[in-house]
Amino acid sequence: MTAVDEALARAWIAAAAEAVRAEAEHLTDLDAAIGDGDHGVNLRRGFDAVTAALGTYTADSAGDVLGKTGTTLLSKVGGASGPLYGTVFRALGKTLRQGGTFTEGLQAALDGVRRLGKAEVGDKTMVDALAPAVAAYAAAVADGEEIATRAAAEAAQTGAASTVPLQARKGRASYLGERSVGHPDPGATSTALILEALADVTAR
Ligand code: ADP
Ligand code: MG
Ligand code: MG
Repeated sequence: MTAVDEALARAWIAAAAEAVRAEAEHLTDLDAAIGDGDHGVNLRRGFDAVTAALGTYTADSAGDVLGKTGTTLLSKVGGASGPLYGTVFRALGKTLRQGGTFTEGLQAALDGVRRLGKAEVGDKTMVDALAPAVAAYAAAVADGEEIATRAAAEAAQTGAASTVPLQARKGRASYLGERSVGHPDPGATSTALILEALADVTAR
């Protein structure tokens, strides 16, 4: 049984879109330091399109809402992060539509990102935030949705911070070699932001 219903899924995506809009400039600055300076712009364009798409979408379930979010992000974000975030939300949507739990959905999202991007923990990518978040959620879900989503958000935040001393081994930042050291990974930072939005809406 999933505690993430259609209303919570919609609230999550609305809060994530709001957070992405508020932090777009910061995310783009992070990407300017070790990439091509478009991560915030990419995500804002994607979440603006998601907001528009969900506004006219008649969904029957959380799985529908999250699946629609994924397909929209996939077609609008571009770059490396578009297909990766598209995969996250499409895997979540597909798992929930098939009757899986949110824990299984998060695991499928992580598996999908790993399969597509071939990054492991320590490569300085969004996997450094997503992998510990999924583990923290799974470990805490028996304590309830609110505690589990907060644990996931905190683990993602810690994971994003852990990317600062790392040298990037995947994505554009890897082209910089040692010069990627000393900066947080933009995608890990946005992953933490999106999971914080989930914890916030779950708590209210
Ligand atoms: P681009 O690098 O194409 O401009 P974005 O700037 O939108 O795309 O996204 C960059 C983020 O994508 C990185 O900070 C990193 O977290 C993530 N990323 C890049 N390549 C990979 C990969 N192979 N696996 C996982 N995440 C990746
Ligand atoms: Mg970029
Ligand atoms: Mg780019």
